[in-house]
This record gives sequence, C-alpha cells and structure tokens, in this order.
Amino acid sequence: MSISGSTILVGVIGSPVKHSLSPVILNAAFKEAKMDWVYTAFETPEEELTDAIKGVRALGIAGLSVTMPHKVKVCALLDEISDSAQTLEAVNCIVNEGGKLKGHNTDGDGFIDAVKHDAGLDVADKKVLIIGSGGSARSIIHSLGEAGAREIAVINRTKKKALDALELAGSVGRLISEDKISEAAEEADLVINATPIGMADTEEITNFPIEPNLLSKGQLAVDLIYHPISTPWMEALKNRKVETYGGLSMLIFQAAKSFKLWTGEEAPVEAMRKAALDKIEKKT
Ligand code: NAP
Repeated sequence: MSISGSTILVGVIGSPVKHSLSPVILNAAFKEAKMDWVYTAFETPEEELTDAIKGVRALGIAGLSVTMPHKVKVCALLDEISDSAQTLEAVNCIVNEGGKLKGHNTDGDGFIDAVKHDAGLDVADKKVLIIGSGGSARSIIHSLGEAGAREIAVINRTKKKALDALELAGSVGRLISEDKISEAAEEADLVINATPIGMADTEEITNFPIEPNLLSKGQLAVDLIYHPISTPWMEALKNRKVETYGGLSMLIFQAAKSFKLWTGEEAPVEAMRKAALDKIEKKT
C-alpha cells in the first residue's frame, strides 16, 4: 500500500484506542480491494471530542469508526443520525458526505450477519437469551427485534439497565430473574454473552456468564469476546457439544458494514478475518 496526496483517510476515535484491531482489519480490506484508502487510530480524550469532529470536517476525513467512550456523546456533534443510531442513542460509524457528517450504528446488524455467516442462523422467529445490557447488548437487542426474533430474554446484574435495554426489544422482550435462568437457558435457540466475563487473562476462571451445564447440543452460543479467541465459557460449552462462536465475526461484520457505508463497495470479509486472526495470534 503506498500513500500519496490523493489517498483517502478514515480512522477510529476512542480512548484508549491504540490497541484497536480496526486498523488491521480495515487496512487489510482496502489492500484486498485495491483501494487507495488508509485507516488509522486517533487517540481522542473526552475533552477533545468536539474539536476532533470539527477536524473531520475541516480536513475532509472521509469517515470514522467511533469506540468507547465517545459512542453516545458524539451523537450531538453530527449533522444527521440514522434511525437505528437515533433509537440506540449511540453511533459507531460516521460518514462524511461532502462536509455533512452522518452517524450510523453497525454493531447489532454486524452481529446478525455474523451468526448468519458462522452458523447459518436466521434469527427471525428464534428465542434468544442475552446476558448483559451494556452498549453491545443494546445494539444486538435492537437488531434482533428488527429482524423478527420471537423472544428476546435478558439477564443482567443491574436490573434497571436490563429494563432500559428491553425497551429496545418491543413486545418480544422479557426480563429474566435469577430463579428463571435455567428455564430461559433451556428454551433458547441462541444464547449470547455480552458481558466481559471471560476476558481476563487467567487460567483460573471459574466465573461464567451463565453455567455451561444449562445448555446442550442443538443450541447455539455466541460469546462477544474476541480476545482471547476462545473463552473458558466457550471451551466448557464445546465440551458439551454446544455449537459455539466467539466475537471476532461480529467485529468483522460491523467493520464490513462501515466499509460499505464509506466506499459503497462490498467488503472482502475473509481477508479482514485473516488479518485480525494473524494479529491476535501474534499477541497471544
Ligand atoms: P458495557 O457497555 O460496559 O456493558 C457490560 C455489561 O456486562 C453490563 O451489562 C454489565 O452489567 C455486565 N457486566 C460487567 N461485568 C460483569 C460481571 N463481573 N458480572 C456480571 N455482569 C457484568 O460493555 P459492552 O461494550 O457492551 O461490551 C461487552 C462485551 O462485549 C465485552 O467483552 C466487549 O469486549 C465485547 N464486545 C464485542 C464486540 C464485537 O464486535 N465482538 C463489540 C462490542 C463489545 P451492569 O449493567 O450490571 O454493569
């Protein structure tokens, strides 16, 4: 990839962001697609967010990915927000349309594409159980609702946050109390871990998002964590013959949606996945 005066610039803003896999994934996509674009990471402290967005307009940066802690606050700084980003009150992708900045949220639909790709699962009419109610759970709940899931059941440590997230599910949302977890797990077609439990870099993890022995063969489980590639929960589920996937596909497919929004082209997802895996394997 050679950078010249006409190379188009995109990037990610967040803090901390230097560890982000997105530059590896998106630059692999531009290289594979033979496009004169480059993607970098802009470490952006919270107090610099407003100036950073002004800079995007001033410098003609073609687009941005947005990660923590800016996904919510950035909404107020944009010219237009897509319907789903507006509902979620969170943006993870900005497109610069001739100086007008439009915000999108590609996380939840990236998840839907990922389970379709990995497991061949269409979530329409399926019963889904989600553990967690943070940003990723919220975007997935919204997309599951839009995609016609039959039931969206949520378990979360903080009940108030679960109830807020369930508002995104419409009439198919259901709060699961402690004493109903095993029943909800047994009934679910798809179970999603949207908490960081399992991210810690230790072999002594005995804490699971939900007990693996509540699931069995025939069910599908997705852990949104992508580093490590396989978590203790995933390993325990695989031992029980539960079909299990990690979070890398969601990361790839939400990036693929951003690539499409910026360039108008379909993203080369397999090249993106290979680049991400190479990078993760080098780190571990
Ligand atoms: P977040 O907004 O901080 O939400 C975290 C959620 O996990 C909250 O519901 C929180 O419960 C719960 N939680 C945290 N620690 C817990 C614990 N020890 N026990 C029980 N519940 C706990 O985070 P997020 O952005 O949604 O991310 C969640 C996970 O998804 C992370 O592992 C992240 O790496 C992963 N992720 C993956 C992708 C991808 O593309 N694959 C994208 C985004 C995030 P409370 O409400 O009680 O605080």
